[in-house]
Amino acid sequence: MQQENNKKKICILGSTGSIGVQALQVIEAHDDLFEPYVLTANSQADLLISQARKYRPAAVVIADERHYEHVREALADEPVQVYAGAESLCQVVKMDAVDIVLTALVGFAGLRPTISAIEAGKTIALANKETLVVAGELVTDLCVRHRVAVLPVDSEHSAIFQCLMGETSPVEKLILTASGGPFLHHTMEQLQTVTPAMALKHPNWEMGAKITIDSASMMNKGFEVIEARWLFDVSPEQIQVVVHPQSIVHSAVQFADGAVKAQLGQPDMRVPIQLAFSYPHRLQSDFPRLDFWQMGSLTFEQPDMDRFRCLQLAFEAIRRGGNAACVLNAANEVVNLAFRKGECGFLRMADVIEATMQRVAFVQQPTLEDYLHTDAESRRVAAELLA
Ligand code: NAD
Ligand code: MG
Repeated sequence: MQQENNKKKICILGSTGSIGVQALQVIEAHDDLFEPYVLTANSQADLLISQARKYRPAAVVIADERHYEHVREALADEPVQVYAGAESLCQVVKMDAVDIVLTALVGFAGLRPTISAIEAGKTIALANKETLVVAGELVTDLCVRHRVAVLPVDSEHSAIFQCLMGETSPVEKLILTASGGPFLHHTMEQLQTVTPAMALKHPNWEMGAKITIDSASMMNKGFEVIEARWLFDVSPEQIQVVVHPQSIVHSAVQFADGAVKAQLGQPDMRVPIQLAFSYPHRLQSDFPRLDFWQMGSLTFEQPDMDRFRCLQLAFEAIRRGGNAACVLNAANEVVNLAFRKGECGFLRMADVIEATMQRVAFVQQPTLEDYLHTDAESRRVAAELLA
């Protein structure tokens, strides 16, 4: 039995990943305020076990059931409930004591647990952008219905959120900054031959493999446009992507009078993670400070949507609406993995995504069932196109 206390109890979906591990650092630095109540992983059983021993959560979930026996036996002497399987993720988020659910798992797998957490009235600290890409309308409607707050963890969206703190006037434009990734100034010819190893070296951020590839193709920025459209209820025309290779200006908001507010800082995901946990307050931290004498010049340029067609496809998907972005996401998950395995060229990723978007049946007002079906069908089509 956990003792009752006033700490915010946090369920981290994906505690073994890049965001999850940094979230645990934030919790540890403020263990008078926060408690890691549930930890989950897909298949990194040993890291999950050591996290459970160190942080003593009430429950853990290993989503990949093949590791269940191993995790259960390793934690047999700990007062922790051990569950397995994707369905368990949808259950643990609803535990009575949980205050905040941090969605730090990757991909479409985030959709159902996030919906389940919203239905249970939990505050969402949202890192899993794929959930809003796939089903932004359904998810935001549910949040309104259940009066649930979604606090963005993605650095750009946290920046916009911070620019909007205290504002009551409408937004004219959101300025979403993009590093441009490792291939920003590559020619088409050079892009033809880039390898996974080259793409996995992001200039400014250390992240999981999937999002690092998405950053290299700029699909990540496309997803963030869609994420921003739903989080801040703006049209895609009100979102401008600005390439800013230094990743110091995390994003900005332009208001009706022409004033622009931006949020700046070192690239460090612990800042937005901590704010999502502590909102509406800011907490003391020892994270590196921005040094204006050291940072050099900040530069800005237009994104090239011909070389980075994934960004173009994302704008197209959000304009089409319905299940189009769900198709985009599913096809992207297929080609992203294929690229990492050396089974799909870098530029071919956009070709396959585009072809999948043309082939899969359009649904104007998708239900959750429609999304699940669209996801499965799009994966099938994308895999077929790749083969
Ligand atoms: P990661 O690959 O480092 O970690 C993913 C975590 O999710 C791991 O704990 C893994 O075990 C778990 N997981 C993976 N697949 C799963 C599945 N099918 N079912 C259950 N659990 C599963 O990823 P990350 O970089 O931490 O990114 C997590 C999410 O946060 C992504 O949606 C990403 O787009 C978003 N995000 C990450 C960053 C970053 O700096 N890493 C920044 C902004 C947004
Ligand atoms: Mg981001």
